[in-house]
Amino acid sequence: MMNKVVRVLLCFAFFGVSLANAEQYPSKVITIIVPYSAGGPTDTVARLVGKAMSGPLKTQMIIENVEGAGGTIAGTKAAGSAPDGYTLFLHHIGMSTAPALYRKLPFDPQKDFEPIGLIGDVPMTLVARKDFPAKDMKELIAYVKANKDKVNLANAGLGAASHLCGMLFMSALQTEFTTIPYKGTGPAMNDLLGGQVDFMCDQTTNTTSHIKAGKVKVYGVTTRKRVASLPDVPTLQESGLPGFEVAVWNGLYAPKNTPKAVIDTLAKALQQALTDPSLIQRFAELGTDVATKDRATPEALRAQLKSETEKWGPIIKKAGVYAD
Ligand code: ASP
Repeated sequence: MMNKVVRVLLCFAFFGVSLANAEQYPSKVITIIVPYSAGGPTDTVARLVGKAMSGPLKTQMIIENVEGAGGTIAGTKAAGSAPDGYTLFLHHIGMSTAPALYRKLPFDPQKDFEPIGLIGDVPMTLVARKDFPAKDMKELIAYVKANKDKVNLANAGLGAASHLCGMLFMSALQTEFTTIPYKGTGPAMNDLLGGQVDFMCDQTTNTTSHIKAGKVKVYGVTTRKRVASLPDVPTLQESGLPGFEVAVWNGLYAPKNTPKAVIDTLAKALQQALTDPSLIQRFAELGTDVATKDRATPEALRAQLKSETEKWGPIIKKAGVYAD
């Protein structure tokens, strides 16, 4: 039997070590897993946030793009990572749509992660290759209906926001057309610019500069209100698609069982990062609303994930879109 003195010493040693670890966090580079290709909207947000958080955390944050299957490969990897605060996961609205889209989702977005905080909200835009025949939304609807066997829409795979938006567009038009999945809308945008695909619904993070440079045609924004950085672009609701609304939100997560002290440190760093003037300016240029301090919290992201999962589940089930 262990004598009392030894037990007390061991106890001190244990708490001493865990206290030292908690105090030292972070003591090495932190990786943020991003579920889509480099150069796309989610990647852009992650790089800006990672850079801004590295100041308050006093450590480097690197991005790992784990592409494919609409974000589910990355989600599975992130959920199974060590819960030590050195592997995080940055995802968007796809965290709330995946449970309805994937019959065999290998992770549970609400149970397998510790939310850290919301990052911001991003509108989407419906854009087409520069020489696409339709000049406005009315013409686009008529053209797509008349040419449904010819037109194609690029997306970042089942579970991506670009997929969700395209699916809602098809259902609003009651017309099905071909979709072409990419590993992210970064590479999809390259093909749209090259004229290999016809149109795409994508976040302003990825479309604003091309819209402003006249390299793509824009038909509308998916939010209820117009976007400040694109004041001349009508909303899809204004353009004849009543009730059409998708707003993408981004959140930062850690694997389940990451210690609370670590989550609190990360949430604080996120809140600080979101007040960084250069991040705020870049987000504004990209049409993205930065989350307010009260939304950049574990509680707010947990609540958002729950309510969005409840919102999108029935819509997706009704649309009858599934992956096996
Ligand atoms: N966020 C994009 C989407 O959902 C994909 C990407 O970031 O590349 O379509």
